[in-house]
Amino acid sequence: MLLGCIGDDFTGSSDLANTLTKGGMAVTQYSGVPKGAPQAGVEAGIVALKSRTVPVAEAVRLSLEAAEWLLEAGCRQILFKYCSTFDSTPEGNIGPVIDALMARLGTTHAIVCPAFPAAGRSLYQGHLFVGDRLLSESGMENHPLTPMRDADIRRWLKPQTTGGVGHVPAATVFRGAEAIRAAILGEAEAGRGLVVVDAIADRDLLEIGRAADGMALVTGGSGVALGLPGNFRAQGLISGAGAPFTGSDGPAAILSGSCSIATRGQVERYARDGHPVLAVEPEGLLSGAVTAQGAAEWALSAIAQGAVPLVASSAEPEAVREAQARFGREAAAGAVETFFAALARALTRGGITRLVVAGGETSGAVVEGLGLPALAIGPEIAPGVPALKAEDRPLWLVLKSGNFGAEDFFSTALSALKAGRP
Ligand code: ADP
Repeated sequence: MLLGCIGDDFTGSSDLANTLTKGGMAVTQYSGVPKGAPQAGVEAGIVALKSRTVPVAEAVRLSLEAAEWLLEAGCRQILFKYCSTFDSTPEGNIGPVIDALMARLGTTHAIVCPAFPAAGRSLYQGHLFVGDRLLSESGMENHPLTPMRDADIRRWLKPQTTGGVGHVPAATVFRGAEAIRAAILGEAEAGRGLVVVDAIADRDLLEIGRAADGMALVTGGSGVALGLPGNFRAQGLISGAGAPFTGSDGPAAILSGSCSIATRGQVERYARDGHPVLAVEPEGLLSGAVTAQGAAEWALSAIAQGAVPLVASSAEPEAVREAQARFGREAAAGAVETFFAALARALTRGGITRLVVAGGETSGAVVEGLGLPALAIGPEIAPGVPALKAEDRPLWLVLKSGNFGAEDFFSTALSALKAGRP
């Protein structure tokens, strides 16, 4: 294994897997820190954690455990992958995890670059944009768990880290890999080792990737991985042959626990197109009025009639705030996540072979609930979203991060998982 990746959620990890697969690396995504040695032939291993919103100490412990396993597997570089909207709170978990990885790897510097231009995330003058909106005006300011109220990534990161926060502005990035590398080392020397690096287009990320050659630690969104396979290729270390992937046209279901704007549009569209949709909310789940068993029965009877049902807790910010005020943020989210994990188990027991999940935390809960140890990576369905196949059973998956995908994403994803298509 050459490149060792630690993802702070499951959808983000499959987004990264997608980028590295397209870059010609043989990629396997693990759910949590694997036991035992990896199988041969894996060039990039991604340990997907559900550490984005767990307590800081837990995120640090899990990330260090993952790093240990990856280093043991022979990795020469560690990539810590977080969301391209830099999902975090003033406490963490991005800063504390970077601090811990820097200490473990004995490095003075780490690139911090959440930019992902293909999905509209660009970083300019230290500020993160989603399309033409500042991050803090993009809808992310209403996120149920990590409301992003400041688009200045340097300022947002500062209280999360014990290290200094540096910056490489776009003007330097445009001058290419050598200038970027020199600027990063300069910032580190000045005591600002967590270096936010601007990127507004894929060509910037390719230069940043080249600049990162040989650096022990790189952190960012999946975009920052664009240029990394090239470094290994230049040294003749990767084969460039991707593993073959075939899909399934078996029974399918969609689960959505994402309340992001894009997902809400996709849920509405799916309902408008006449598909069966079951809406659930924390109140019903916490009171016991709605159960995973009941939802599974509803979904399986729709499947028996040839439909692909969608079960969604996706709600408007107002409704999310209300539920959080009534039950507490953790309890509301926990009830929804436990529900989707149990529902996914019941549906796979009921025979489904295709499962589309919307929401990063939700996907983590589902994949953990199903106990899927490793996922093979298939073709890209939408920017940042690949088709996936469980390595230990006949189950094909799509894990979609909240803001990804066009309005008809659910239908697109279902047909992309069909046999022969991918
Ligand atoms: P995204 O990828 O859009 O951020 P996530 O699944 O990561 O989606 O996060 C959404 C969080 O909101 C999850 O923890 C989920 O359990 C929680 N959630 C989902 N629906 C509701 C709701 N109706 N009310 C409160 N919280 C909710």
